[in-house]
Amino acid sequence: MAETETKRDYYEVLGVDRSATREQIKHAYRRLALQYHPDKNKDPAAAAKFRELAEAYAVLSDDTKRKEYDATGHVGVSERWSQDDLMRDFQFGDFFGGRFGDLSGMFGDLFGRRTRPGAGAARGVDLRYDLELTLEEAARGGEREIQITRSERCGPCGGSGAKAGTKPLFCQDCKGTGQKQEVKTKKDMRLVTLTTCARCRGRGQIVESPCPICQGNGYQFLPHTLKVKIPPGVDDGMMIRLAGQGEANANGGAPGDLLIRPHLRRHPLFERHGDDLYMVQSVTFPDAALGRKLRVAGLEGEALHVTVPAGTQNGTALRLNGKGMPKVGGRGNGDLFVVVEVRTPTDLTERERGLLQELAKLQQAQSREEAPPHTSQPYTQEA
Ligand SMILES: [Zn+2]
Ligand SMILES: [Zn+2]
Repeated sequence: MAETETKRDYYEVLGVDRSATREQIKHAYRRLALQYHPDKNKDPAAAAKFRELAEAYAVLSDDTKRKEYDATGHVGVSERWSQDDLMRDFQFGDFFGGRFGDLSGMFGDLFGRRTRPGAGAARGVDLRYDLELTLEEAARGGEREIQITRSERCGPCGGSGAKAGTKPLFCQDCKGTGQKQEVKTKKDMRLVTLTTCARCRGRGQIVESPCPICQGNGYQFLPHTLKVKIPPGVDDGMMIRLAGQGEANANGGAPGDLLIRPHLRRHPLFERHGDDLYMVQSVTFPDAALGRKLRVAGLEGEALHVTVPAGTQNGTALRLNGKGMPKVGGRGNGDLFVVVEVRTPTDLTERERGLLQELAKLQQAQSREEAPPHTSQPYTQEA
């Protein structure tokens, strides 16, 4: 699934504060994990959600990893631990007391085929942000401020991690490659094992006097306020991409993008289908029979006039051209449909009852005259 290539803030994933205690993090994880566990939740999106939760918990429940994440964001974590490393150290089974059977098998499936995210990546990680909008906000569009926390290259040291005026030293252990080769000879076989250099943590360089701003990480994890342009008419399932606003890249490449996904809140009166809007308007039985002009309120509360033609049936949709949602890209609007709900009168007064009885008698007499023999027999009223 392409979605797994974007990453959300771990704290946001678990729905906890940045200052949350271990207990609060554990509690939040347990609650959400039970909700999204693929054995319980058959929604196809649940597995991805569960994996996201597990990863967030694996990092935030471990003090060292959490510290690294707090300082540098996804970039620092992926630089130091592969996805496999993150999950290997973490005892998922303990958590559920064996309630879900063998979890290690499932995690093997979920994480097994993923490649090491930091290695060789040309760009930083794409970040995802879920933006909740009301129907009115989606119709209007415009600018919206959002707060995100993301890693970026440390300004004062330019990402080298070395204090101003100093330079990182070439790592002698790995000769600057970040990897170590171990060669073993067994009889005729020559076994070569490649491991990440422990001394420089795979960077190929060693910082002797760390930059005081980023503690030698080369990255900072900082809150940012960004302005997002929302196109009028935006809908669920669309995506707004802010290029270069994602996480920094560990190997000096370009940063990732920020992908904003709008989520529309349900409206109490209007229902959206594509660019069209639907609303229900109740009409009295005489009005539906005789017809009348009605005034209804549009999405922005504006007065709209709609004609209910004589003889309108319950459930009829009356179209108001161009009064629906704006079409993304600025090519006009969808339509607004007013769905007529004919109300059957209750709590009749004496006079109303009399009038209706008179009408009923009239219609019974009419249908007796009109109905040809042997076709639809009019029902007879019981005494
Ligand atoms: Zn090294
Ligand atoms: Zn720095």
